[in-house]
Amino acid sequence: MSETPAGSGIDIDDYEDVWVFIEEHAGEVMPVSWELLEEGKKLTDKLGQDLVALVIGEDIDDVAEEALERGADRVLIADDPVFEPYRADPYGAQFRAMVEDRKPTIVLIGGTHTGRDFAGRVAVPAHAGLTADVTEIDVDEDGLLQARRPAFGGDILATILCEDHRPQMATIRPGVFEAGERDADVEIDDDVITSVDVVVEESDTLSEVLEREVGDTADITEAERIVAVGAGVEGDLEPAVELAEALGADLAASRAAVDEGWIDGSRQVGQTGKTVRPELYVAIGISGAIQHIEGMNKSGTVIAINNDPNAPIFEHADYGIVGDFATVCPELTETLRERDG
Ligand code: FAD
Repeated sequence: MSETPAGSGIDIDDYEDVWVFIEEHAGEVMPVSWELLEEGKKLTDKLGQDLVALVIGEDIDDVAEEALERGADRVLIADDPVFEPYRADPYGAQFRAMVEDRKPTIVLIGGTHTGRDFAGRVAVPAHAGLTADVTEIDVDEDGLLQARRPAFGGDILATILCEDHRPQMATIRPGVFEAGERDADVEIDDDVITSVDVVVEESDTLSEVLEREVGDTADITEAERIVAVGAGVEGDLEPAVELAEALGADLAASRAAVDEGWIDGSRQVGQTGKTVRPELYVAIGISGAIQHIEGMNKSGTVIAINNDPNAPIFEHADYGIVGDFATVCPELTETLRERDG
C-alpha cells in the first residue's frame, strides 16, 4: 500500500532545482549526460533555480569538475567503491536517499540501459512521477515540467505533466539534444561541490558482478556518417557495407531489417531504436515510415536510395536516387574509391 495518498502528502513548494544525472562508467561519461545538462540550463533559466549535476561512482572528482565546466551551478557526488561497476540496487538506493533528502523539483536521467534500469527504483518508492523515453522537455508558466514523448505508435506527441507529486522525473532519449561546449576557464569554488553521505554498503547489495561480456553492440548515436539499410535490401548487406566503408560510415538499420535478423538491434534507428543526428544519413531500401523518420530527422544531409519513386523517404531526403540498391550502391562506392584514390 502506498504511504502517500495520491495527489497529496507533500508540500510541492519544498522542492526546487533541476538535477541532471551524470552517468559515468569507469571514468567515462555517457554523452547523453552532457546533452541533458545543456538542455537543463534552459529549464533553470526559466525557473530561476539551480542546475545541479549528480555524480555517482568511484574516483569521480574529474567528472564533477567537467560538469561545472559544462554549466552546472553545483555538483553532488556520492563517491564509493560500492558504485563501481554499476549495479541497480546500490545506485537506486543512493539516488533515492538523495532525492528524499534534498528534494529536487525536476530530475533528468539519460534513457540508457543504466538510466532505464534504476530510474524506477527511485520513482516508485519516492512517489515521484516518471515519464520514460522523453524526446522534448520544457516548463510551463506554472513551472511544471512538460515531458513530451511519442504515443499511440508514434502518431502523436503526448505532453505529460506531473502536477501532484515530486520530483518530476524523466528518462530522456540519447541524441535528441545537443551537448554544449566545455569551458575549462570556469572558476570552481570549493562550496559548489558537495560530497553526500553514502547510504549503501557492500553488505546491503543483493547482486555481485562476476564478469562483464559485451556483445556486438554499437553506439550509432555518436556517428558522424550513417548508412542505414531497410527491408528493401532483402538480406543482401554487402553493397551497403562496402558503401559504408568507402564513406567511413557506421552501419544502421530500420526495424524491419533488425526484425529479420540481418543486423543487431543496437543499430536500429527510430522510435523504438536510437535517435541519431549524423552529418550524413544514407537510407537504402527504407520506405520512410514515421517511426523511422523520428529517429533520423535531425540528420544533416539525407540521401535516399529506393526503387519506388513514391516512397515517403524521398520527402525527407536532400538527394533521392530512384533505382535498385544492388546497382546504385556499387556505383557510388566505385566513384568514392576513385575519388579517394
Ligand atoms: P519497408 O516499409 O518494407 O520498405 C522497404 C523499402 O525498400 C520500400 O520503400 C521499397 O520500395 C524499397 N525497396 C524494395 N526493393 C528495393 C531495391 N531492390 N532497391 C531499393 N529499394 C528497394 N521502424 C523503424 O525503422 N524504427 C523504429 O524504431 C520503429 N519503431 C516502431 C514502433 C512502433 C510502435 C511501430 C508500430 C512501428 C515501428 N517501426 C519502426 C516500424 C515502421 O512502422 C516500419 O514498419 C518500418 O520502418 C519499415 O521498415 P523498412 O522501411 O525497412 O521496410
